[in-house]
Amino acid sequence: MDMHYISTRGAAPVLRFDEAMMTGLARDGGLYVPEAVPVMAQADIAALAGLAYEETAFRVMRPFLGGTFDDDAFRRLIAAAYAGFGHAARAPLVQLGSNHFLLELFHGPTLAFKDFAMQLIGQLFQAALARTGERVTIVGATSGDTGSAAIEAFRGLGNVDVFILYPHGRVSEVQRRQMTTPVEANVHAIAMSGDFDDCQARVKDMFNDFAFRDEVRLAGVNSINWARVLAQVVYYFYAAVALGAPGRPVSFTVPTGNFGDIFAGSIARQMGLPIEKLVIATNQNDILDRALRTGDYTTRGVRPSISPSMDIQVSSNFERALFDAYGRDGSAVAALMADLKRGGFHISAKAMAALGAQFASGRCSEEETVETIRRTFAQTGEILCPHSAVGVKVAEEHLGAVPMITLATAHPAKFPDAVETATGLRPALPPRLADLFDRPERVTRAPDDLAALEALVRERTGR
Ligand SMILES: *Cc1c(COP(=O)(O)O)cnc(C)c1O
Repeated sequence: MDMHYISTRGAAPVLRFDEAMMTGLARDGGLYVPEAVPVMAQADIAALAGLAYEETAFRVMRPFLGGTFDDDAFRRLIAAAYAGFGHAARAPLVQLGSNHFLLELFHGPTLAFKDFAMQLIGQLFQAALARTGERVTIVGATSGDTGSAAIEAFRGLGNVDVFILYPHGRVSEVQRRQMTTPVEANVHAIAMSGDFDDCQARVKDMFNDFAFRDEVRLAGVNSINWARVLAQVVYYFYAAVALGAPGRPVSFTVPTGNFGDIFAGSIARQMGLPIEKLVIATNQNDILDRALRTGDYTTRGVRPSISPSMDIQVSSNFERALFDAYGRDGSAVAALMADLKRGGFHISAKAMAALGAQFASGRCSEEETVETIRRTFAQTGEILCPHSAVGVKVAEEHLGAVPMITLATAHPAKFPDAVETATGLRPALPPRLADLFDRPERVTRAPDDLAALEALVRERTGR
């Protein structure tokens, strides 16, 4: 099948899979989505039972590629992407209660679920660039985990420079060290003044500066990149089938920040996976929960929390859900996003009905996060990271007749302080990362200033 990708704002070129992947943000400021989501026959979903993660990945993602990679090549890239994971199942399920399961997505090289997409994107970029001989500059913003995952995936690649902007002083020490200790010259960790939303805004500004964008051949790996969302669709199938889908529906609860992970779940559902509830779990930065309850999408300042990877008020991927909720009307989405620049917007009644049919939501306070880590450890022996705890707490409010699967998005050792406060135990890093605290750091401080950031990128890439 021929696959085309269109922008959520309706005014950018229609692209193939590989073009959408290399482009990141659409030139009209929108995000790329498939023109139509391929549906998988129920028998094909049933046939995923018992398959390796890699084969599941191949079958779920293949229809979206539109022939960009041939089957053998794509299988090899998938195998390479997941070879460095520390668990044979890649995404193992753990049982928390009679009908509540935890999907551990933190066995990749940087200990967060971001590795599932980023390791694959690293392989896909490399293969696509090898064909054209092109050299690109990746610039990304991170609340902590995307940056470390991107650096791990792209470090040492000859045809890529990777610049990661993170909010200075607002990431955990493990997250920071994962970004600042790689020795490869193509890795540039930038500690920017401001919060994550500021970092993300400057990255978007760079993409919207077309002269700069074309000059440095800018490419993006934030979850605005469709290929990342696609890679995350796989584990929804893998987990659901393990618990009896498609014969039996399941529900998912997803700790949410930029809305990429949960949006992947809604794609899985559109492909035919029987997902009953898809629950958005937010920390105290609860704009998504408020929007789902009241229709009011108004940004307030970010309040730093113990689940920093979710300290986000401008949830990029929510635009993809809005595009569907507004009947795929690109100009309506463009108008909403213009209002968002001025502080916020109100979601129409019709769009609210569409979103309500897709998603449920809940929030978890700081105290509840600590209490959930403590209680889950006492009751099950499972040590949750604070993000996963936000998910577990909200999931418990949505338990029902079908199995609930909560996504565990990071390893507890990435956030040892919060875990120690709750349980009295300081979780150890896996042996492959044990020397992280001994490695020298290398970082560049930068102001929240577009011109200064662009100058830095030009200088480092020699353009
Ligand atoms: C990125 C991240 C999230 C939020 O995921 P989104 O796709 O941005 O919604 C949650 N938990 C952890 C640990 C993360 O790294």
